[in-house]
Amino acid sequence: MSIYRLWVVDHIRELRPIQGTIARRLTGWLDPIAKKANFSAGECVFPQYIVNPGVGEMLIHVCPFGTSVVQKMPGAVKPNPTASHLGMTQQAGGVTGAEVYKKTSDAEGIASIIFHEAMHNKLQLGDAGLHGRFTPCELSCASITWPTSPTSDESDAMAAALRNPVAQWLNGQRILRSAGMRKRKNDPLWDSEIVL
Ligand SMILES: [Zn+2]
Repeated sequence: MSIYRLWVVDHIRELRPIQGTIARRLTGWLDPIAKKANFSAGECVFPQYIVNPGVGEMLIHVCPFGTSVVQKMPGAVKPNPTASHLGMTQQAGGVTGAEVYKKTSDAEGIASIIFHEAMHNKLQLGDAGLHGRFTPCELSCASITWPTSPTSDESDAMAAALRNPVAQWLNGQRILRSAGMRKRKNDPLWDSEIVL
C-alpha cells in the first residue's frame, strides 16, 4: 500500500500564504478517493523541488494570471488570456500538462479549480467531455461555485481512474523554478518564458 500524491507545482510562490489551506482542502477530497483506489492514503503536496511523480500521480502547475507554462509543452496550444478560464489541461505528444491561474486569492476557490483540472487530467476529458458528464455536478461543472466538494459520482469516477498511468509533462517544473528564482532576484524579465 502506498500513498497517492497530487503534486501542485508553485515555484513562483503565488499561493505561498495559502498553500497549507489549499493542501488540506485537496487532501480532504483526495484521501477517500485514494483509499477507494486501494492506496493507503491520498494527499496534496506543494513540492519545493523537482519531482518525478509515481505512476498515476498528477502534477498541476500554478501560474500567475497572464502567464502559462503549459504553452511550452511540445505540441500545446497557447491559451487565450482573455478567456474566462481559471485553468487549462492539454494533451500533446503522449503527455498531459495542467495548470491553474491565480485569478483569486480564495483558498477554497483555488482548491476547487485544482481539483477540476485534476479531473480533466485523470479522466482524460476535454471541456465538452467533462463539463456535462456528471448530473448533478460540483467540481466537474463548467463554472464552479465554492465552497463545494466533489459529488459521490465525481469521487467514484476519480477513484476508478486513479491508477490509470496518465503520463504527466515534467519539464514545466524547471521553467517555473527558473522564473521564480529570477522573480526573487527582481529580474524585470523573469516571466519572459511564460508570459502570454
Ligand atoms: Zn474544465
